[in-house]
Amino acid sequence: MAGPLVVAQGIENAQMYEVVKIGNEKIVGEVIRVQGDNVFIQVYEETYGIGPGEPVYLTGSPLSVQLGPGLLSNIYDGIQRPLSDLSAQAGDFITRGIESTALDAQKKWHFLPLKKAGQKVKAGDVLGEVQETALFKHKIMVPPFLQEGVIEQIALEGDYNVQETIAQIKTPQGTITNVQLSHRWPIRAPRPVAKKLTPSLALLTGQRVIDTFFPITKGGTGCVPGPFGSGKTVVQHQLAKWSDADVVIFVGCGERGNEMTDLLMEFPELRDPKTGRPLMERTVLIANTSNMPVAAREASVYTGITIGEYFRDMGYSVVLLADSTSRWAEALREISGRLEEMPGDEGYPAYLGSRTAAFYERAGYVQCLGDDNREGFLTVVGAVSPPGGDLSEPVTQNTLRVTKVFWALDSALAYKRHFPAINWLNSYSLYEENLKAFFEKRGGLNFNDLKKKAMAILQKEAELQEIVRLVGVEALSQQDQFLLEISRIIREDFLHQNAFVDIDAFTSLKKQYLMLKTIIDILEKGQNAIQAGKSAKEILSPQLKEKISRMKLVKEEQTEQFFLLSKEIEQIV
Ligand code: ADP
Repeated sequence: MAGPLVVAQGIENAQMYEVVKIGNEKIVGEVIRVQGDNVFIQVYEETYGIGPGEPVYLTGSPLSVQLGPGLLSNIYDGIQRPLSDLSAQAGDFITRGIESTALDAQKKWHFLPLKKAGQKVKAGDVLGEVQETALFKHKIMVPPFLQEGVIEQIALEGDYNVQETIAQIKTPQGTITNVQLSHRWPIRAPRPVAKKLTPSLALLTGQRVIDTFFPITKGGTGCVPGPFGSGKTVVQHQLAKWSDADVVIFVGCGERGNEMTDLLMEFPELRDPKTGRPLMERTVLIANTSNMPVAAREASVYTGITIGEYFRDMGYSVVLLADSTSRWAEALREISGRLEEMPGDEGYPAYLGSRTAAFYERAGYVQCLGDDNREGFLTVVGAVSPPGGDLSEPVTQNTLRVTKVFWALDSALAYKRHFPAINWLNSYSLYEENLKAFFEKRGGLNFNDLKKKAMAILQKEAELQEIVRLVGVEALSQQDQFLLEISRIIREDFLHQNAFVDIDAFTSLKKQYLMLKTIIDILEKGQNAIQAGKSAKEILSPQLKEKISRMKLVKEEQTEQFFLLSKEIEQIV
């Protein structure tokens, strides 16, 4: 026995990934290797006081989560034990072996049946609905493990708890399966879908630097490094609040206890800006506090993503934020070390890459199982915390290999108070092609063009800055001086976005388009005017600059302001 690893002998028929209970306190563990007579068990609780000779009980089932009404608003640990229950039973420190069900077993939910007895059903068909929170309808589906059958009985509209049978389904083999409002699913197995589709819709976040320059698709994957003080928390809160998602899953694998305490304090305070209701009503938090063993941290990302898939299966748009996956990888490394596996890069196990890929592959835009052709989205954004900001380290590299968007949070930008501190030169989105049609349709016909032009200016600025450092701005041509002014405008008046100013915190795609179009109009008109002999200063009068800087404060519905501005720009030449 060593830390989170227990080796047991003399147990027959132990299966890989089977959950076991150890000792008289019945602490929870999972079989991670079976070698001859030795069964290696990864333990999710403290192992102090457990010694040789204690019994080990097999449960016969893999580590799984309970899925059903009551998930939303909940805060769980890495193996889906509600934190509120745990602290109520054991004070703030979690004692071992506490049995708690993930979903409140007593609470009654109002079930509205949508199918009738005698109907044929398949996995994923919606049997009925439960209004889980004020604005969220929880679909009660035929569980994926029940492939097909005929409804023998279905409950009348009424109040039921998650363990009561609400339908009986007779399979073609003649067995009758009871279906409840909740079912269990093993966390390491992706939930099945009818079909994976190619992501083609943007997950709009209202954050200009993201939506316009580095967009992520609904069902896409992204990576964000978070150097200390770079504004990572604010970016995550903005994504949670403003993303075009029905459900948010936040997996916190903090190392330092206070990071998690902050999360547990802050998240429940957040308001859903679209409804004014607590954001928790459409959120599930998975939090590993520092007094939990590393194995629970390893499991927590799977617990989170399985819950995410479950909501996706109902036909919703789900966003999962994992912070930080580096802590998850460290847990993997620690467990691998104890198994005495051959270490790979920087001590991480050789399978770090395949595990990382397998995790992100569970994201996606899918056609769900079920007879109504519904589609669901699971978008996954993982934060990494590379030591010393060194992006070449293995966790970041393995993540970048599989994720398609990289938002390079940069502490130098944060130091200059440029927020969100997403570096426009290092960040990228590989979804540009997928989203071309989306931007033309929902933004503006020439949106893609405008983006390219704006990005070219920012890149040119980076080149010119070298020259400016050496010989000063005055040495530049009028065209280049003008270009630097425009790039300053793009940075300060477009990319910079204050999360704490109501009107600035969220920008619709339409307004992003109008803002960018105005800036590029000035660029193009200005370049012509300079050719005709005007100077950069003459074109950008203080009044015009002032108006441009106030664009972000124009209300969404006041689009005529942009029209007036464009009239003014017409006068430039
Ligand atoms: P981190 O989590 O990376 O340590 P935070 O997200 O807490 O950093 O951000 C640190 C500070 O930076 C915040 O308290 C806030 O003052 C400022 N900040 C970060 N992002 C923004 C933003 N989008 N708008 C305005 N201020 C921001």
